[in-house]
This record gives sequence, structure tokens and C-alpha cells, in this order.
Amino acid sequence: MPVVFRSKLFHQKILDPNSNFEPALLPLEVRWDTLTGHMAIIQEFRFRGQLPKPDYSTLIEKTRPVCPFCPRSGGDVSPRFPPEFIAEGKLTCQGIDVIPNFNPYATYSAIAILSRTHFLELKELSREVVVGGLLACQEYLKRVAAFDRRAKYMSINWNYLPPAGGSVIHPHLQPLASYVSPTYEKEALAALKRYFRRNRSPYWADLITAERDRGERFIGQTGDVAWLVNYAGRGREPDIIAVFPERRSVLDMPQSGWDAFYEGLRNTFRYLADMNYVSFNLALYSAPPGEDQFRVHARLKPRFQFPALGTADYCFIEALHDDYLCQTYPEKVCRAMKPYFGTV
Ligand SMILES: [Zn+2]
Repeated sequence: MPVVFRSKLFHQKILDPNSNFEPALLPLEVRWDTLTGHMAIIQEFRFRGQLPKPDYSTLIEKTRPVCPFCPRSGGDVSPRFPPEFIAEGKLTCQGIDVIPNFNPYATYSAIAILSRTHFLELKELSREVVVGGLLACQEYLKRVAAFDRRAKYMSINWNYLPPAGGSVIHPHLQPLASYVSPTYEKEALAALKRYFRRNRSPYWADLITAERDRGERFIGQTGDVAWLVNYAGRGREPDIIAVFPERRSVLDMPQSGWDAFYEGLRNTFRYLADMNYVSFNLALYSAPPGEDQFRVHARLKPRFQFPALGTADYCFIEALHDDYLCQTYPEKVCRAMKPYFGTV
């Protein structure tokens, strides 16, 4: 069976106060992720217009004097790598410093400090900054691979600004290498094997073909990278997926791959900025050795707070039901993003 786009439509019946309490049906759609089967409830939010652009200027100034990643005259207070791992103590690549994370998420958990500037807004995330950061993370992960083969679950991650869980304003990436698989990757690895056993064809190539044919969620292509909106979005705004169909690991990603990825990221950042999104999460996953069906892919989702109360874009559905609530149709997001990729 090829890639299955599974969904069910449900309704809640009400008596509508806006129509003299006539009966009305409120629709919601449940979709299941085409790879992992994870459930997303798609319910267009009825009371939300365009988000106002949040103002972080006060927070930026308040955090500048105490920022752990700003260059400082009073000596280096950053943690260093032990000499048996990285003899220099600190890795510098493309002019970008990589240091250990004081709050590790894995045995190898680092911070790549993207600039000397305390704050960069979306449009200032240039090729030099982003590709330089990705190359620095790649170099760190290569050092890990050479030092400890057990740390085979690798990813490069980004919490950009507080709504996305960023606790430091200063722009930084977070490369991780762990002995244990993140849950998403574990589910994806098992599902990829099941898919190949059943179909004798690779999932990612089939997904790209199916989405390109349908055209509803295929945003465009930058170099070898295919950009899609996820069918069953993880989050209030659907997540955007970038697939490198020819690449299994970030360890051997060539410069051209990073450049192509940046081109799509730059288009995405422009879309986010025009929609008044200022914050996002990004994860770029890399296959462990021997996992032939896995392909390098990234997922990016905008994060925000609902105005008036500053309500989180996260509730009991995500926190305790382990499902996702998606409040904009992925197809709508795709239509809005296509012009930014020149694929109208
Ligand atoms: Zn700073």
C-alpha cells in the first residue's frame, strides 16, 4: 500500500446564538500522520485574525547585560569540552563558537553561538549566520562520531525566542548526539522499515512523489531539498518539512546541501515574518549508521502566544493526550507559502 492520507470528518452540533439559535454543525477533521500514525485534530480557530507582531525590544535590552553568549570583557565564563574529546576546549568553525550546554539534553549536547550580536530578527538570519552555524554543528557532530560511536542519534535543533522554549535571546543552534533515540525518531525508524517491507519502495521518495502530484501540500524545491507542509500538522500552525531525499546523515552533507536548505529557510523566514510570526522550533534529523530507509529531514513549526492573555499554543491536547491540535489547514498554509518559493 503506498502512502496513505487517512482522515475522518466529525461535527459537533450546536444551537448557534449568531443565527437565532438555529441548529449548526461545527466541523473538525482528524488526520493521522502518513509515517508514524500520530493523530492531529484540525479545527480552524474561529476567533483568531492576523496575529499582532510581538514586541521583544524591552526583553532584548534587559537580557543583554546578563547574556551568557554575548562577548564579554571580563573573561570567558563558558564551559569547555574536556581535552580527551576536544583538545582546544572550545570548537570554533566558520567563526562560530561551539561550547557544551550547561543544561544537557543528551550525553553530547552543545550550543553553537551564531553571532556576536545579541539579537537577530528573522530577516537578519543571513546565509553566513545560518549556513555557518550548520557547518559548525556538523563539525561538532563529526568530532562526536570520531570520539564515541555509541552516540549515534544525532540532530541539530533550534529554539528561536521564548515562545519556542528559547531561554536565551542570543541566536544559537543546539546539536545533540545521544545514546538513545528521541521518540519521534524511534517511531519514524520503525515505521520506515514497516513501509519498506510492505511496499518495497522508499517512503520519503514516495511521499515527495505523492505530494508533488497532489500539489496541495508541496511548497517547492530548493536544490535537492523538497519542502512540504505536513499532512497531519504537529502544532497550532502546521509544521513544514524539508526532505533531503539523497542524504542519510548530516555528517556527510556537502556545502551545496546546506546552501539549498538555507534557501528554503530564507523563504520560510520571509513567510513567517509577513505573518507576524517571530518564533519557531526547528529540528534536523540525521540517520544512525545502518538505517538505510532514513533520510535527513527537518521539521519547522512557528510558535506564538495568543494575544490578550498571552495564551500558550499548547494545551491538554498536546500536554496530556499526546495528540496535536492544528488550527489552520495545511493546504491553506501551503497556498500562502508557495509564492515565497516561486511556485505559484
Ligand atoms: Zn547575547
